[in-house]
Amino acid sequence: MIERGQALAALSQDEFDVIVVGGGITGAGVALDAASRGYSVALLERADFASGTSSRSSKLVHGGLRYLQNFDLGLVREALLERQLMVALAPHLVHPLPLVVPAFDGAHPDRLVGVGLNLYDVMSVDRDRLRTRRGRRARAERVAGPRPVDGDERPASEESESWSPARHRVISGDEVVELLPALAEREPTSGYLFYDCQTDDVRLVLTVLGEAERFGAVCANRVDVTALLMHDGRAEGVVAVDTESGGQFEVRGANIVNATGVWADELRRSEMADETELPRIRPSRGTHLTFSHSDLPLVGGAIVPAGSGRTIFALPWLGHTLVGTTDNDYEGPLEHIKPALDDVEYLLEAINTFFGRALQVSDLTGAFAGVRPLISSGDSKKSVDISRKAELYETSSGMITITGGKLTTWRRMAKMTVDRLVEREALEAPCHTQEIPLGQSIGVSELPRVEGVPEESYRALAGRYGHAAIDVLAFAAGRGELAQPIIPGLPDLLAEVTLAARREQARSIGDVLLRRTRLGLLAARELSREEPGQAAAPVRAVAGVLAHELGWDGARTEAEIESFNAELSAEGLDIP
Ligand SMILES: Cc1cc2nc3c(=O)[nH]c(=O)nc-3n(C[C@H](O)[C@H](O)[C@H](O)COP(=O)(O)OP(=O)(O)OC[C@H]3O[C@@H](n4cnc5c(N)ncnc54)[C@H](O)[C@@H]3O)c2cc1C
Repeated sequence: MIERGQALAALSQDEFDVIVVGGGITGAGVALDAASRGYSVALLERADFASGTSSRSSKLVHGGLRYLQNFDLGLVREALLERQLMVALAPHLVHPLPLVVPAFDGAHPDRLVGVGLNLYDVMSVDRDRLRTRRGRRARAERVAGPRPVDGDERPASEESESWSPARHRVISGDEVVELLPALAEREPTSGYLFYDCQTDDVRLVLTVLGEAERFGAVCANRVDVTALLMHDGRAEGVVAVDTESGGQFEVRGANIVNATGVWADELRRSEMADETELPRIRPSRGTHLTFSHSDLPLVGGAIVPAGSGRTIFALPWLGHTLVGTTDNDYEGPLEHIKPALDDVEYLLEAINTFFGRALQVSDLTGAFAGVRPLISSGDSKKSVDISRKAELYETSSGMITITGGKLTTWRRMAKMTVDRLVEREALEAPCHTQEIPLGQSIGVSELPRVEGVPEESYRALAGRYGHAAIDVLAFAAGRGELAQPIIPGLPDLLAEVTLAARREQARSIGDVLLRRTRLGLLAARELSREEPGQAAAPVRAVAGVLAHELGWDGARTEAEIESFNAELSAEGLDIP
């Protein structure tokens, strides 16, 4: 991404076709879609990119088996097709994950789940792609003869150009244990195996923003949009505040897109009084816990019953285990969302019962919470039952608000928004995002080896950055100490801090530890200080690299460390 100072200069000097407010996955998607259709685009993010809900999800790119219960078939179908497309566009970042619904004591796996999985299989078939692929295969066979049939049900067929999921099937107890070693002592007797996909939500946002910039979008974080610039009742730009300097400036643009997620009502507050029929945001909090792989070892994900017909996920993620989530109405402040103690206890109880463990709060490696931007349907439905469909509406100023939806369906939400812009300007500008690769994949073996970099870091780097991992390694090769892990034993390198500051607008220790890497979620204890006024060693190491990159003096560095400790505590990440 371009350097933040340059982005700010462009924002105050240039005039844009589209101003996107909000740098979560929705805003990033709109910026990419609009820029790739030829619009000049500015994207303004109040805090850090993806610091809202888009860093706090379950990290699944999925249809959402659960939504079938609510007969949200359109949403599930749309998300399943997007899932497949995301694997094709960003194979290093969005990858298939086996998921298991185990059964015990010789019982047949729940038939109702089987019915749901059948529907899931049918709905995930992309007939257009299948037709193209069959056509290609038939042509290839005419040339080379038919391919051997080996009955293999791998998640992706190696000769196909894109992943498509194998149908679900019943597997034996031994196979269940292979995928869910944490369940070994309960001796499962069989289970359903099916596939969904997984990602790093923040990295997806940063990657989409990077692509938007390649098409000319100007993106800046720590720019708060405080008001719309109005002329004759129409919005012609926004009033923005650089939250680092406190300076106020105007950004001029013909179209304003409000992609501020749970904050969407704030920006249209002035219009809401007159437009009472507009949907309102109804935030719902979800909490997640993380554990070390050794405490809860998983190779695939598990669907875990959690009482009253609810289920939660236990998933392998970045070398740890991620458990979540809850889903309850939330009314507190939106800036920092803490995991509620009740939610932590509910999740612990569900996994302890299911896996036959006795895990406690002291076993957590991290815990985090986020709020879903659900759209109030005006009735008293529980938040779990509210649809995850996206909503788009235009208010009297001409501003378009896009909210609701899911991480998985970001591209469709962006398309819907930009289609509306194109339509109201009576232009011919079709969407291309279905064919724009997101980043560039690279094989682990293609990465140059650098002295001091632990072997396990190469896989992590290739998964996080794709081809740009080479740049991280170049920083490590140039300054030996950057080849060291931020936390000994974990793959994230100090060289990533350099890349985050130079190329990804990271401005604080939290930007690096909570979002550019995910150490704040996975190794929170190593980052928490033991005494007031102290700093954990990894925090000091990250502060040192940022000080070098951003020109912080000693006093500023200490102030930044203090502010990171305060952020950990406000987010409830400094678990006891
Ligand atoms: C617990 C939980 C689990 C989930 N799991 C999944 C999952 O596994 N798969 C899935 O597909 N979806 C999942 N979701 C849903 C998904 O995470 C969200 O739908 C998505 O991240 C919303 O993105 P967004 O960009 O709309 O909002 P956000 O990510 O919140 O982005 C909005 C941004 O706008 C900025 N902003 C606000 N006001 C202003 C302003 N005035 N000026 C400038 N910027 C402003 C904010 O700082 C914020 O960064 C989950 C959600 C939750 C809460």
